[in-house]
Amino acid sequence: MLNKNKKPLFTDTVKRIVFWDIAIFFMLFLTSNIFTVIITNKILTDNLDERLKNEVETLLDSFRIEKGIIQFVGYSEIKEPDFTTINSGAFFLQVKNTNGKTLLGSDNLKSFGTIPFGVPSNKPRYQFENITAGNHKLRVVYTPLFNEHNKIAAYLQLSVFRTQYSSIMRKIIFFNLFNLPFVLLLIIIVSIILAKKSYSPLNKIINIAENISANNLNARIKYNAHPNDELGRLRDTLNNLFTRLEIQINQISQFSDNASHQLMTPLTAIKTELEYILKRQRTLDEYKDTLTKVSIQNDKMITIIKSLLIISRYSSASEVYKNVFKISHVIDESIKPVFKGYNIDYLICDDCYLRGSYEGIQIVLENLIDNAVKYSANNSRITVKAEDIDGKTIIKIEDYGAGIRGDEKEKIFERFYRSAIATGGNIKGYGLGLSLVKTIVTAMEGSIKVEDNIPMGTVFILTFPSVKIE
Ligand code: ADP
Repeated sequence: MLNKNKKPLFTDTVKRIVFWDIAIFFMLFLTSNIFTVIITNKILTDNLDERLKNEVETLLDSFRIEKGIIQFVGYSEIKEPDFTTINSGAFFLQVKNTNGKTLLGSDNLKSFGTIPFGVPSNKPRYQFENITAGNHKLRVVYTPLFNEHNKIAAYLQLSVFRTQYSSIMRKIIFFNLFNLPFVLLLIIIVSIILAKKSYSPLNKIINIAENISANNLNARIKYNAHPNDELGRLRDTLNNLFTRLEIQINQISQFSDNASHQLMTPLTAIKTELEYILKRQRTLDEYKDTLTKVSIQNDKMITIIKSLLIISRYSSASEVYKNVFKISHVIDESIKPVFKGYNIDYLICDDCYLRGSYEGIQIVLENLIDNAVKYSANNSRITVKAEDIDGKTIIKIEDYGAGIRGDEKEKIFERFYRSAIATGGNIKGYGLGLSLVKTIVTAMEGSIKVEDNIPMGTVFILTFPSVKIE
């Protein structure tokens, strides 16, 4: 069977690195070759020119021109074997007067043949040229010869073979081409090894990360690297991600436990009632009584599910709210009628506005005032305030009721959390109200906090960005 997790030997990343290494190598190879050819060419040519120049200077000492005729002085250099035979170091000498008439030619020219003689145009002391004679490549130098009146009477041309030069160049190019496949192979092997080596810590981290699943989300990547190092940052980023996932997955599983538990209670009550009534024939009143109890449990389930649906709608909403409404309008139209008969003071600024969901803020205020009523005894006073302070719109719901313990001030916003006072005191509720409130307030870019009221009770403080109407 094929192993699905088998890693390919050459991943795309390794191939990409090898490709770029080869491309860079080729560029370097090409430039270094061009550079070598240019430099070698210069050095070899300079050497030939230096040799020609030295030889010309020795020759100039061995003859002079008088009355248009060459006069040899003492020992004549041109009797040397380099001027009489043709070997790799041979010199070919020609002297022609300004009319082009040959005054002198070295002996080896007879067996070598003609060498083209171009009269120098700008008459420098030494003029060097590359020329071809038959199949031979030559380097030549021209120099003017002066007569007894110090006038140019003739030109001297001295030539040497460039064979040595060409063979050195050929050797360089051949050497490079011959080595190319080996160097290429070496580059490929070295790049693969380097790429694999530099990616091996990354693979280590990937392997550890692969082994962390939903079942062991508390496991973390342990890899020794400085937090500023790329691998250290990758390790920390992944570990932070796992921590966030762990928290969220735990929350989800806790939430579904709670939700099932909360729904199970009314469902079990309905089941018990139905089993009891169906056991035998009952009176009409007994049926009515059971149906009423079933209806109450049904209402409980509807309330729970409705709250959960609203939470889910507002927590997944990425809506940008455009609606702007007056807080006093929400209070007058939707809150005061619901809480008629309760001891509630409304201190609402007249020109305070909110941007968001009208229905959302209605649910928020209803829940907070309902809690204030629920957790206060004997219809004690409740105050609802709204004011604009420092560019913020602040809404406060103050009561003089049971108050909330310091350690519970965070927990009360969790779904299904109810304090001992609520459960023990038999106060109706499902622990969803404040979670609902927080979700809606957050969706409207606001925040919520809870403080102790003085001398007793609780203050819920909502803060929203204030909206200015010109
Ligand atoms: P419920 O009221 O259904 O229990 P909530 O989410 O509205 O659920 O409130 C969560 C808990 O916060 C309540 O159980 C209660 O302990 C506490 N609480 C909320 N509002 C007040 C208040 N005004 N005074 C005292 N305790 C409060």
